[in-house]
Amino acid sequence: MSDNFQLKEALDTLKKTGVRITPQRHAILEYLISSMSHPTADEIYKALEGKFPNMSVATVYNNLRVFKEVGLVKELTYGDSSSRFDFVTSDHYHIICEECGKIVDFHYPGLDEVEDLAAHVTGFKVSHHRMEIYGVCSDCQKEYRQH
Ligand SMILES: [Zn+2]
Ligand SMILES: [Zn+2]
Repeated sequence: MSDNFQLKEALDTLKKTGVRITPQRHAILEYLISSMSHPTADEIYKALEGKFPNMSVATVYNNLRVFKEVGLVKELTYGDSSSRFDFVTSDHYHIICEECGKIVDFHYPGLDEVEDLAAHVTGFKVSHHRMEIYGVCSDCQKEYRQH
C-alpha cells in the first residue's frame, strides 16, 4: 500500500466518523504514515512546529487521542512518561532496541492460537494480546564494534 493510499483511507475514516480534517490533523497523519517510526507526541510536534508555529504539544496529543478513538492509531505505553504512536495498518509485532529505544515493525503469522487457548483455559473473553521482542538494533551493534 502506498503512503498516499493510506493517507486517503485515513482521511476517509475521519470523514465517515465525522471528525473534522484540519490542516494540522492532515499533517500529523501524513507524518505518522511517512515516518514509519513510532513517534512520541513530542517528536511529531518538533517535526511539524516549523509548519504550524501556533501548534502546541498538547494540540498534537489531543489530535492523536482523536485518531486513537477512531482506530487510526495505536498508543504504545511503556510505563514511562512518553507514549509512542503507531499508525494502524495491519496487525504487526514490535522489536525494540534496548540501547536507542527504536521500535521496528515485523510481521509474524497468527498468535491467534495463544488467544484461543488463553480464552479456553481461563474463560476470559479475549480482546487482544501484546508481544514485544527486545534486543540491540543493527545501528547500535555497529556503534559497539567501532569502540
Ligand atoms: Zn538501537
Ligand atoms: Zn508498529
